[in-house]
Amino acid sequence: MTFTLYPDARLALARDSLAGLSVGDALGSQFFVPGRRPADLAADLLPPPPWQWTDDTEMACSVVALLAEVGRIDRDTLALTFAERCEPYRGYGPGAVRVLRLIRTGTPWPVASAAAFDGQGSCGNGAAMRVAPLGAYFADSTSRAAAQARESAEVTHAHPEGIAGAVAVAVAAALAARARLDGDRPDPGRLLAGVAAALDPTTEVHRGVRRVAGLLGRPLVEVVEAVGNGSRVTAQDTVAFTCWVAARHLDDYPAAVRACVEAGGDVDTTAAIAGGVVAAYTGVATPGGVPAGWLAAREPLPDWAG
Ligand SMILES: [Mg+2]
Repeated sequence: MTFTLYPDARLALARDSLAGLSVGDALGSQFFVPGRRPADLAADLLPPPPWQWTDDTEMACSVVALLAEVGRIDRDTLALTFAERCEPYRGYGPGAVRVLRLIRTGTPWPVASAAAFDGQGSCGNGAAMRVAPLGAYFADSTSRAAAQARESAEVTHAHPEGIAGAVAVAVAAALAARARLDGDRPDPGRLLAGVAAALDPTTEVHRGVRRVAGLLGRPLVEVVEAVGNGSRVTAQDTVAFTCWVAARHLDDYPAAVRACVEAGGDVDTTAAIAGGVVAAYTGVATPGGVPAGWLAAREPLPDWAG
């Protein structure tokens, strides 16, 4: 089916994805507070609000604000926006703070991004954690979603794995949003195959996505054992797991977030990624979607998020 996706419809999909991303981030980060137990969430006992969002949401808001303004990624603007809006207390990693400080003080982003990690560029999960709404925005073209995701990643993550992580998440969100428009929920295997097809086959992210496609009927612990849960905060040990969660729970947002919390690791980021992809399909306050009560418990988004 071919169709025209108007800017307002694109933005509505991106904003639903951002709602899922930010609620996943904010609720996920609650489980770093001592005394919080995943079993409580499984029993529907929610932490007391407000749930403060972290760097995942702050950067995703910059991505969505730029799309709302110009309809595509402009790397110079995005890099400067990330740098100027960075509030370090939001849980940014030391590598990210360093790159963003360089950009803020006048270093061109290609230089700052390439210099990270002794010249290897960052393969952290930071480019993946902010990109699901971009994928939803380009629901009509996985190739456009992939190309735009690459550009959004490059300003901070020059390493091929960091970029592949962003491409994987954006394509997953594009496929999820497209499935919502078509009214046709893809089976988990088809979704993961679509993601894998968009990736550089030499990357570990690609191998991970291929691997989890073979683990769709398996228990969560086995998947974590195979591909990680983000505890090393790299794209390689984060993205395949989140794709598995999103594919498995595409029509059930609370179940996707609960799975991320239960898995442990970099929970705010895994829940942000899986939540952003799933919400592109389910929407907000719909059956299986982001619960209205969860959205109300999340700290409000910044005014500039649009
Ligand atoms: Mg975070």
